[in-house]
Amino acid sequence: MRQRNNRALILGISGQDGAYLADLLLRKGLEVHGTTRDREISSFSNLRALGIIDKITLHSTQVTDFRSVATTLKKVDPFYIYNLSAQSSVGLSFDQPVETINSIMHGTINLMEAMRFLSLKSRLYNAGSSDCFGDTQLKPADETTEFHPRSPYGVGKSAAYWAVANYREAYELYACTGILFNHESPMRPTRFVTQKIVRGSMDIAEGKASSLELGALDIYRDWGWAPDHVDAMQRMLDLPEPSDLVIATGETYSLKDFVAGCFAYSNLDWQNYVVSRDSLRRSTDIAYSSANPAKAERLLGWKATVKMPGLLVLLLEAEQARRRAASA
Ligand code: NDP
Repeated sequence: MRQRNNRALILGISGQDGAYLADLLLRKGLEVHGTTRDREISSFSNLRALGIIDKITLHSTQVTDFRSVATTLKKVDPFYIYNLSAQSSVGLSFDQPVETINSIMHGTINLMEAMRFLSLKSRLYNAGSSDCFGDTQLKPADETTEFHPRSPYGVGKSAAYWAVANYREAYELYACTGILFNHESPMRPTRFVTQKIVRGSMDIAEGKASSLELGALDIYRDWGWAPDHVDAMQRMLDLPEPSDLVIATGETYSLKDFVAGCFAYSNLDWQNYVVSRDSLRRSTDIAYSSANPAKAERLLGWKATVKMPGLLVLLLEAEQARRRAASA
């Protein structure tokens, strides 16, 4: 077995999970390298917000380009590789299906081919998604649940999952997929519905808006806290054998619950302000997405510390603090 070095490479470090994972690995004493598609134009606002940008070595790398991936892997020679880089919005994947599937699928294969080409005995974490399962129809999904993706994003994530499983079996790579359910933080952009609701409810409370337009409200999700979920990723690569695991809180709430909680925080009744528009519904939206993370909890000794009601408060308090700082 390869001697462990203490270097970690996070592909997609400028995103939500990349920033929280980098913070965690630095606190654990690892040397952290990270990639972005173009170091010259990335703002790295998340790494700056966490105050860690000066502690990370950054590389310009395009995961869809084999030469670019191989060059970075050769230069860094990491023991831990986390592939988080991809077009990550389900909604946008309907408008950019090729770019989405390409970034997910080719990025993952390029990494595994580069590991083989360079004979690296590194450990690879692949960012899988609950969108592989599609609608779980009231039966919580676990590692044995069949895939039935309902978006180009879910199709790409499913293909990458099977590519990882295939390379693990065929070439004995240490490679695994974390099948993560939704996880949120103040670092999510507003194109994600949770931040749209958090910011929209506060705009209404402050008199800056009079209504909030949303799509389907009767959808159910397992929402977790991003710092919890990156902790699970880190633990996965320390398992003696690679294992694909479902990572989630194990609790499911409706979007209506989420909306009601956000408006109640500002002492408002959501029903007076929220408009559900058919035009914002997706034809293949996932109605019910629920998870059984028991295997991960057992193998990793991990459990989500924040469930939806607490998550709401964390998101709303962070947004309030952001607004106070902006107006100071
Ligand atoms: P983000 O979108 O915040 O970060 C992903 C990063 O990937 C971006 O910062 C960007 O970095 C890079 N990227 C974006 N588009 C492309 C593209 N077309 N080609 C190559 N790289 C691209 O995602 P998260 O941090 O939230 O998620 C991390 C990973 O986990 C993603 O793969 C996501 O699909 C997956 N995931 C996330 C879940 C969640 O709830 N957050 C749930 C399940 C899975 P740059 O611009 O610097 O190159």
